[in-house]
Amino acid sequence: MALKVFNTETRALSPFEPLEDGKARIYACGPTIYDHAHIGNFRTFLFFDVVHRHLEWSGYNVRFVMNLTDVDDKTIGGAVKAGSSVAEFTRPFGEAFLADCNTLGMLPADSYPRATQYITQMVDFVVRLIANGHAYVADDGAVYFSVASFPRYGRLKGIDTSTLKVGARVSQDEYEKEDARDFALWKPAAEADEKAMAAWDSPWGRGRPGWHLECSVMSLTELGDTLDLHLGGEDLVFPHHENEIAQSEAATGKLFVRNWLHVKHLQVEGRKMSKSLGNFVTVRQLLEEGYDPASIRHQLVSAHYRSDLNFTRDGLDASRSAVQRLVNFESRLEAVPVGDGEPSGLRDVSAETLAAFRAAMDNDFNTADAMAALFGLVNRVNALLDARPRVPAEDVASVRDALSSMDRVLGLLEVAKASRSVDASLASWVEERIQARADARKRKDFAAADAIRGELTARGIVLEDGAGGTRWKVLGPAAAASGAAPK
Ligand code: AMP
Ligand code: ZN
Repeated sequence: MALKVFNTETRALSPFEPLEDGKARIYACGPTIYDHAHIGNFRTFLFFDVVHRHLEWSGYNVRFVMNLTDVDDKTIGGAVKAGSSVAEFTRPFGEAFLADCNTLGMLPADSYPRATQYITQMVDFVVRLIANGHAYVADDGAVYFSVASFPRYGRLKGIDTSTLKVGARVSQDEYEKEDARDFALWKPAAEADEKAMAAWDSPWGRGRPGWHLECSVMSLTELGDTLDLHLGGEDLVFPHHENEIAQSEAATGKLFVRNWLHVKHLQVEGRKMSKSLGNFVTVRQLLEEGYDPASIRHQLVSAHYRSDLNFTRDGLDASRSAVQRLVNFESRLEAVPVGDGEPSGLRDVSAETLAAFRAAMDNDFNTADAMAALFGLVNRVNALLDARPRVPAEDVASVRDALSSMDRVLGLLEVAKASRSVDASLASWVEERIQARADARKRKDFAAADAIRGELTARGIVLEDGAGGTRWKVLGPAAAASGAAPK
């Protein structure tokens, strides 16, 4: 069965047919880097990763681009408050985001464009839209897209745009728009924009791009006029993606996106995640609570992306057990006694599992069914091994191959092993430092001993001296995020 995807635009499952055979051009709307990404964002981003991995696993040559939004109202507001430029203000959040992606096992994107790097292309794009009659300049220097000039507007959301206020001239005091539906491509620079160094020269005076324009220009520049897949969370369908379609197609005259995929929002402990409800959870907080990255990844990819998913601590505990079952299973396969004898049936089980796994993933990336196939393999093989003292080596190898093949898509064992190997090298480094500190104290070189404690604290490690010696624990993600222990 070939891959089928659910396209938001057609509201139907259809075969995935890229523009060019064997190639997949993917653009994903990434985070706005004014704060740390939360686990809701990561439900969406890990779905992007599953798409990326499944297409590579299926043999496509994938080009995957995910933007980092560094110019918008939130980043500008944050920069002004911090007294810095948007570039400086967003840098640490961008870095933290990429570190979280790495911790959760996301394959790196081919490119992570930021709006600040594409201003020239954005200005050129607006010039083009004005020249072909799809945009106009208002008296205050703003440039608007004319929705009336694009009759296909509304097709992604499935709305009849005539139900929106058409042609009504909007209050001249508030807007300089000709039509209530029109949206800004370019905004005149406000005082805050100048303060945050988020204002640039343009033929219409100082100003900055609108958020919708940013994604159109970065995706077209990075991937060409037509994308095979455009991904995002469900809240982006309207107006963000609707506006992207209008601008892009008005500029190029070509179909912008062949398939739109949108991820349902994550709930946390049964409720919408929000700062005011106090259930706003980041990956870093969960790591500090002692959860490991593979459990987080498991829980966030365990449901089909268009189904509800409710994130709970209990669910995370269940995910931890599920990942542990996989780790134990892999170890058992390494240690199983092999020998000649009757075929065990394991090869058939492996082939059936791989077929079921592929069918699930090809059915609009159904990770829930794919995981059921994976854990079905664990159950069936464990039962077969329990019943036989020895099995042929090739039979065991077929199971190992099936397991590692599926993990190239789901990435659970991969992340579990990566976080453990960091732990192992970190642990030996910490033990060595603790010994050096004990030696320094014996020599009464307390300055050296304190320096070593400081070095450990800087990496998120706290020491507790007790009667039985010094114990240690990792308080924050600093040590894990920084990778292996320093030499
Ligand atoms: P933002 O950083 O707000 O621009 O959001 C980045 C991505 O995360 C977008 O694709 C959003 O649609 C998505 N997103 C935001 N909240 C959630 C949530 N609770 N569950 C899943 N995805 C989300
Ligand atoms: Zn976007």
